Amino acid sequence: MPRRATKIVATLGPACSDPALLEQMIRAGVNVVRLNFSHGKAQDHIERARLVREVAQRVGREVAIMADLQGPKIRVGKFAEGKIFLTPGQKFVLDAARTELGNIDAVGLDYKALPREVKAGDVLLLNDGLIVITVDAVLGDAVHTTVKLGGELSNNKGINKQGGGLTAPALTAKDMDDIRTAMSFQADYVAVSFPKNATDMEMARQLCNVAAEDGPKPGLIAKIERAEAIPKLEEILLASDGIMVARGDLAVEVGNAAVPALQKRMIKLAREHDKVVITATQMMESMITNPVPTRAEVSDVANAVLDGTDAVMLSAETAAGKYPLETVVEMAKICHAAEGGEDFKLEADFTGKTFQRIDQSIAMGALFTAHHLGAKAIVAMTDSGSTALWMSRHLIQVPIYAITSKVATQRRMALYRNVRPLFIDTSTDRDTALAEAENHLKSRGIVQKGDVYAITCGEPMGAPGGTNMLKICRVS
Ligand code: PGA
Ligand code: MN
Repeated sequence: MPRRATKIVATLGPACSDPALLEQMIRAGVNVVRLNFSHGKAQDHIERARLVREVAQRVGREVAIMADLQGPKIRVGKFAEGKIFLTPGQKFVLDAARTELGNIDAVGLDYKALPREVKAGDVLLLNDGLIVITVDAVLGDAVHTTVKLGGELSNNKGINKQGGGLTAPALTAKDMDDIRTAMSFQADYVAVSFPKNATDMEMARQLCNVAAEDGPKPGLIAKIERAEAIPKLEEILLASDGIMVARGDLAVEVGNAAVPALQKRMIKLAREHDKVVITATQMMESMITNPVPTRAEVSDVANAVLDGTDAVMLSAETAAGKYPLETVVEMAKICHAAEGGEDFKLEADFTGKTFQRIDQSIAMGALFTAHHLGAKAIVAMTDSGSTALWMSRHLIQVPIYAITSKVATQRRMALYRNVRPLFIDTSTDRDTALAEAENHLKSRGIVQKGDVYAITCGEPMGAPGGTNMLKICRVS
């Protein structure tokens, strides 16, 4: 399998929970497994996490687990018949006070605050934007509307307000329980749904860190899927370890047409802030039912790669689709081919930049030197993963191998673009560790006699943030 820099996140679900299939998918290139806490019980996720760890170990690949929290779901209530069919022009009432089941005229609300947060003229989108209604008036607990775009509306479908503005807190009581579940199996990443600002992320981080106890702390991913998150992008990035371009809900709130430009901006901004970024939703949607992707999907995945995303994500394609393995194989091929079309502008990346930290300066020095010398590899001996993260924020054709003696760091780096995390016990003295690193590269066929590579490490070894050495080596 050719080396691929862009990572693949695959959602685990009924369609791919068979150990043999999951093993094939990991062999085919899944780097991060997403557990979607919107579905299933705590015990299901615990068992799936155990399965992922087992299979990854058997295959000998580092695979990160991302626990994706459900977040606030702003939903309608249930219908007497399970569903109704709304026709354009008809009146329809969303009533927070309604206790009886819904019908063609009115339905109750799971989200009781809705009448206080909308006014006449607002546009509401139901069921992922498939149904559009406008607010005529709010009378007490009842939101009176007219249907603009009709369709089937079934129990507990989601409500979005065009332009955003619904205030539901990002972390629900269920999310807090789910964080504890995720920390019980040491999830490597926790994705927070619908954060509005940095405070939502800080709160999630506190909860995760407390629940993690003495174990490794997870990386936090902010799912950008609310209109209000866009102006707060910078503060959200600062409070997070990465973001997800969550195009499903985002498109409903800001309109489909705005999403591609936002995707480019988010990817660029995330990289500039030394954060990771995942591009998500409907990337290979047609492969839920078809064995091959559409041309448009191929272009979409390739463009996310060219935008500089760390990872591309699969949702229902792997969780509930007919072709989970084929989808991963296709996606890996598209990523690999798109990477061949990148233009590398390392010099331009550095223009006007200064680096104050010793470790970061060493990381950038390694990148620059390896790029100019046409080195075969960059090797970062890293404790926390920061050196590898900084290096991977710049597009460069030289592969980065991140060597760590911490399993949690190794797994976390599985998401970083162009980084291949390797586990080596580096608790020895420096010279032994350097020799071992070179042997490792040789035995994997990454370098051969005569090849040049750059390696960074810290002295003393094994202290986080201690990188202070860059060595350029020629393999003898
Ligand atoms: P979801 O998030 O799949 O959990 O809804 C992604 C998105 O909204 O795009
Ligand atoms: Mn979403």
